[in-house]
Order: sequence, then C-alpha cells, then structure tokens
Amino acid sequence: MKLRITIDGPAGAGKSTVARELAHALGYGYLDTGAMYRALALAALRAGIAPEDAPGLMRLLSSVDLRLEHGRLRLDGEDVADEIRQPAVDRIVSLVAAHPAVREALVARQRSIASEGGIVMDGRDAGSVVLPDAECKFFLTASLPARAGRRHRELLAQGVRVDLAEVEREMANRDAQDEMRAVGALKVPDGALVVDTTGLGVADVVDRLLRACRERGA
Ligand code: C5P
Repeated sequence: MKLRITIDGPAGAGKSTVARELAHALGYGYLDTGAMYRALALAALRAGIAPEDAPGLMRLLSSVDLRLEHGRLRLDGEDVADEIRQPAVDRIVSLVAAHPAVREALVARQRSIASEGGIVMDGRDAGSVVLPDAECKFFLTASLPARAGRRHRELLAQGVRVDLAEVEREMANRDAQDEMRAVGALKVPDGALVVDTTGLGVADVVDRLLRACRERGA
C-alpha cells in the first residue's frame, strides 16, 4: 500500500536527511515543505517585499512560478535549492510562514502533491494540518546544541562561514516563532511517534522509522 508519511519537528532535527532516505528506501516521493516557504522568502528578498507584507507576499506567490523538478526546487525556472538555505533566508522565513493566507495557499499545493499517496512530507505542520489523516506520522527532535551544531556544519560545507553561537541564537528564535504562530504552529501531531535524534546517526533513525512504516503496511 502507498502510504502518506509525515515528519515534523524543529529546525536541525535531521528531518530532511531522514525523510529523503526514507522516501528512497520505500521508493516514495519526497516533499520538503520548508523549501516552499524558503523559496517564497527568497523571492521576497529579491523583490524587496518585506516579510511582514502579507498582501505583497500573496501577489508575489501568484506571479512567480514555483515548482519541484526531480526533487529540486525551481523559482521561475532557476534552481534555487542551495540559495534558499542561505542565512539571509533563515532570518526571515518564519515571518513569511506566519501569514495565514500564505500558509493556506502553500498547504493547498502540498495536499495536491500528496494526493496520490506514496509520499514522505517533512515540515512543521505536515501531520497536524496538511495531512492529519496520514497513515504514518513522526516527530523528530534533538537538543538545541545538537541541532545548531548540525546546521553549522552544513553551512560550513556550503562555504558559508558563520559563528556557532549565532546559528544557535537564530535557531532558537526561529523555533519560538514557529511554535507561537496562530496557524500551523510547530507541535507534536496527534498519533505521531516522537524520536529524539540527539546522539543518533542518520542510519539508526531511518531504520527506526522504516520499521514503523513497514508495520503499517508500507
Ligand atoms: O524545514 P526548514 O527549516 O527548511 O523550514 C524553514 C522554515 O519554514 C521554518 O522555520 C518555518 O518557519 C517554515 N515552515 C513552516 N511550515 C512548514 C515547513 C516550514 O512554517 N511545514
């Protein structure tokens, strides 16, 4: 059976790496919902639209061409998969994602992509709002220092030199904004299996999730 699998959790908990590998192991598609919010934030930066300007963001969303091709996100045809991970985008993406109208529009796209099943979706509200009746739900978490350390290593690998303490501060700030917003707030979805990935390797986490999915018929 082709299941719908959701993986939620705070920044740096390892969701996207684990989701990608789980999707690969099951032969399913993978949708990184955070990348959609990030792409809109990048488009806003480029167009000079403030992250607080909901009508401006909605106009932008209807004028840009945002699509997934072979797992890479394209903005008006340009591959922006790397650029959306830059610190400038980190700083404003939670503000962009807090607007109910923006969320409604992107959630509708996410549901349509998932409509045929056979998908692993990661985000903040994938199991609580986007696909509340998903067959398999997970919530990955880890300590803040572990999450900031992972993100810092990722940025260094991309050639972005930033201070670890700064990454930790920015991440704590983003967590707080994601947890406190009125719509689509970060929380453990009903029925989700919670996995603390602090000190665990990717293979161990993927293995644990894969077993849970197999038990549910994947
Ligand atoms: O997952 P990632 O860290 O790339 O997500 C970037 C930001 O996008 C999050 O901090 C959050 O503000 C927003 N987001 C969201 N809902 C999702 C996925 C991401 O609000 N489903």
